[in-house]
Amino acid sequence: MAVVEKLEEKREHSFFDDVLKYFDNAAKFLDHDPQLLEQIKYCNSVYRMRFPVKCDGEIEVIEAYRVEHSHHKLPTKGGIRFSIHVNQDEVMALAALMTYKCAIVDVPFGGAKGGIKVSPRTCTPEKLEKITRRYTTELIKKNFIGPGIDVPAPDYGSGPQEMAWVADTYSTFYPNELNAVACVTGKPVAQGGIAGRTEATGLGVFYGVRQACSYKEDMDKLGMTTGIEGKTVAVQGMGNVGYWAAKFFHDAGAKVVAISEWDGSIYNTDGIDPEALLAYKKEKNAVVGFPGSTHIGGPGAALEVECDILIPAALENQINGDNAANVKAKLIGEAANGPITPAGEQILLGNGIMIIPDIFLNAGGVTVSYFEWLKNLSHVRFGRMEKRYSANMNHNIVQAIQEASGKTITAAQIAMIERGPDERDLVYSGLEETMINAYTAIRNRMMNTEGINDLRTAAFAEAISKVAVSYENLGIFP
Ligand code: NAD
Repeated sequence: MAVVEKLEEKREHSFFDDVLKYFDNAAKFLDHDPQLLEQIKYCNSVYRMRFPVKCDGEIEVIEAYRVEHSHHKLPTKGGIRFSIHVNQDEVMALAALMTYKCAIVDVPFGGAKGGIKVSPRTCTPEKLEKITRRYTTELIKKNFIGPGIDVPAPDYGSGPQEMAWVADTYSTFYPNELNAVACVTGKPVAQGGIAGRTEATGLGVFYGVRQACSYKEDMDKLGMTTGIEGKTVAVQGMGNVGYWAAKFFHDAGAKVVAISEWDGSIYNTDGIDPEALLAYKKEKNAVVGFPGSTHIGGPGAALEVECDILIPAALENQINGDNAANVKAKLIGEAANGPITPAGEQILLGNGIMIIPDIFLNAGGVTVSYFEWLKNLSHVRFGRMEKRYSANMNHNIVQAIQEASGKTITAAQIAMIERGPDERDLVYSGLEETMINAYTAIRNRMMNTEGINDLRTAAFAEAISKVAVSYENLGIFP
């Protein structure tokens, strides 16, 4: 890459521009009205706000955003990022990605995203609560939140606690609104959340990569065998998404050889147990020093280790024109949003590395958020009606088979067969089905479209065409 281009990338780098580039690359292969494509491409509503909060006797002005990228389906949906680096360009990019993500996994929402410019790591819980509640009030004032309008969720720096504050604030303003808790997802289960939401994005990452690794011809090209067992994995970021992805790979028999956090990267050729590392991180607020591991460098070092699968699960722009040539993984699963810049991608694809794009791979979160929203609207837990019925039916089948065959099976086998599904089982099942179907559709589009040679372009083409058809069906563009 030319020096001037590198400098250009550093100085002027815009995440939203990256998304526009990916859009244009894919739109070339589609036959929709150019004006309609223009409508889809840009953000419909951008709300930038500033509000004061008083903490420890001092007033602080907080900058925050909510961007609704596309209203072709309502409500719009997307997480709220809590980070000191939040800016309008980033929130716009993330909102656009949400539109495409929802389309790819067939979740009936438009895309949105929120951002609050604050560092949750250095904030007291009291200050975070004040900021979150005030942010929610600002959204209510401008009609940027509601079960049928715009439904936030967790993102980088936020989790179930913040979502509980959002739901409670909204419910206070709308005490008679029966569906009030459906105004936000990712809530604690006791506050109307759903079992399986916490791990959903990481689990979706696992299901998506596992599906990609199931095609022999694709794995042959990468010099890998099919399946997850025995593969080596490196993960950047031990937060919600990174931890759960690492844990599911580990549980499936992969070896997580490298993990990085803000304090550095650690390596163990025999594999790192993510659960033990999480306990260590909670205690020390760091990963460096984890027993049995070697400190191999700063937060970026894990991106460059020898491994089969690399999972960037921290932030955007991590693999770029500067470091892409050092990446040795054969497959990269984009768990974070936008971890690879277009310049980085060119280099990686040129080196024969397979990239599974964010707009498919991290859609597990929004998929299970959709299940949570449905649960809130139906006011009943998944599995409540059918669990006992299924268990009784399975019991009768097992009895009948034992009587007819004259053979008995073990108590452990009976327990496994007879068990009716609970909420988590159903959520996992819906998520697995969603990720398999979506990957198949993206891969089919790549295989069946001359000129599309990578999964990102295929995923964008798939998403844009679904959104375009949705608009066309509305009759706006006859
Ligand atoms: P999180 O805040 O739970 O975790 C992120 C972790 O990354 C933190 O522990 C942080 O210390 C670490 N980190 C930050 N910079 C790093 C660096 N340079 N190197 C190594 N580690 C670093 O956030 P999350 O919810 O896990 O989100 C991570 C990414 O996944 C973001 O891009 C987010 O937009 C995306 N995502 C999240 C969800 C979700 O459901 N939470 C859904 C879809 C996409």
